[in-house]
Amino acid sequence: MDYFNYQSGQLYCEGVRLDAIAASHGTPAYVYSSATFLHHYQQLARAFAPLEALICYSVKTNSNKHILRLLEQAGAGFDIVSGGELFRVLQAGGDPAKVAFAGVGKTDQEISEAIEAGIGFFTLESAEEAENISRLAEGLGRKVAATLRVNPDVDPKTHKYITTGKKLTKFGVDIEEAVAFFEKYSDLPGLNLVGLHMHIGSQITTINPYVTALKKMLGLIQTLRSRGYKIEWLDLGGGFGADYQSDTAPLAPDYATALVEMLAGQDLRIAMEPGRFISGNAGVLLTRVLYVKQSGPRRFVIVDAAMNDLIRPALYDAFHFIWPVQPAEGFVPTERTSEPAMDGLIKADVVGGICESGDFLAKDRLLPPVRRGDLLAVFTAGAYSFSMASQYNSRLRAPEVLVNGSEQKLIRRRETYSDLTAGEQ
Ligand SMILES: *Cc1c(COP(=O)(O)O)cnc(C)c1O
Repeated sequence: MDYFNYQSGQLYCEGVRLDAIAASHGTPAYVYSSATFLHHYQQLARAFAPLEALICYSVKTNSNKHILRLLEQAGAGFDIVSGGELFRVLQAGGDPAKVAFAGVGKTDQEISEAIEAGIGFFTLESAEEAENISRLAEGLGRKVAATLRVNPDVDPKTHKYITTGKKLTKFGVDIEEAVAFFEKYSDLPGLNLVGLHMHIGSQITTINPYVTALKKMLGLIQTLRSRGYKIEWLDLGGGFGADYQSDTAPLAPDYATALVEMLAGQDLRIAMEPGRFISGNAGVLLTRVLYVKQSGPRRFVIVDAAMNDLIRPALYDAFHFIWPVQPAEGFVPTERTSEPAMDGLIKADVVGGICESGDFLAKDRLLPPVRRGDLLAVFTAGAYSFSMASQYNSRLRAPEVLVNGSEQKLIRRRETYSDLTAGEQ
C-alpha cells in the first residue's frame, strides 16, 4: 500500500505530480510520501498496541534526518547499527532512551558515544563484545542495559544475504549457548543484561518463521527465568516485508495477530525494529530514459539512474516495479507485478550507465513502449535505496524530496562535483 497513484494518466505522489518534481529537481531523484511512512508506522503501532510495544524504526533503511523526525514525532524509537546513525537520530531530536544499538562490529568509540548519549540498550552480538561494553561503561562510571541477540536457527526463506537468524550467520549467539552466556555475563560490572533479542532476516512475507522463532525464544526465557535470571525485555527485531509486487506482503495485523497472542501475559516488555515495512513502499526513484537501444534480440532502456542509486537488483536480484510516469493511453497499471496483463508491452532490460554488466534495475521486463526523454518511476525505493547509494563512477548522489499532501520539500540536495572531491585534501 502507498500513496503513489495514477490520475488522468499522470503519476502523483499524494497531491504532487511527479513530472513537476522532475522539472524542479531534475533526475534521478528519490521521492518520498510522508503519508505512506506514517500509514505503515501507525498500522504496526496499532496492531501491536495490546503489548505496548516499543517500535524502533530501523534507521539504516532510510536515514534522512527529516524522515527520522517524521517518525520520531509519530512516537517511534530507533534501531541503530553505527555511531553515524546515532548522530542522525540525535540531530533529528530522537529520544536516546528509545534507541537500541545492534551490529557485530561496534567500535570502542561508537560504544562510548552511545553510552554517553544514554541509549536505551545495546544488543550484544558476542561474548567479547559484552566484556568490552561493560569495561567501557565502567570506565565512564555507568552501567548500561543490554539484550542478548540470540540466533534461533530459523530459516525465513528470504535471500541468503538477508537471512540473519540461521546457524552459521555472523549474528548473535546460538540459542544453545544462551544459558551459558547468562551464567557468565549476567553480573558484569558495567552491564545490565535485561533480556533477549532476535532478528531473523529481512523481507519476510510469512508469519511462520516468527512464530517458530518466538516459540524457541519463549522456551529459552522460561529456562532462564527458572534459573533466576530476570528477563524483562524481548526485542523481536525487524524483517516484516514490503510490497514489491501488489499484495504480496502481509498487512500489519497479519503479522501481529499470532505474535500478540503468544506474547500476551508473558510479563515481558516488547520492542521491535521494523525498517523496510515502514519505509519500503514510501519512496520511488524517479529517472529519465536517456537512450533505447536494440542489441540483437535484446532491447535496453538506458536511464539516468543506475546501480549506485539502487543496488538492490544487482545485489539481491530484487524486483522493483518500473513504469512510465506518464503512460500512453491504455497503459495505466492496475497492479504492480512482473507480468502485467496488457497488450502492446515490450520486453526490455532497464539499465544504468555504469561500467558493469551488473548495473541493471530490471531484466527482461514488460514495459509500455518508451522513448528517450520519458520519465520512469522505480517503485518501492523508500528502503535500502538512497541509504545504500554511492558515488561509484564519480556519479553525484541524487536528491531526496519529501511530499506531504500538496507540498513538496527538498530534504537533501543533489550532490555537486565539488562534493566528490571535498574530503580529498
Ligand atoms: C536491518 C535490521 C533491522 C531492520 O530490518 P527490516 O527487514 O528492514 O525490517 C532490524 N534490526 C536489526 C538488528 C537489523 O540489522
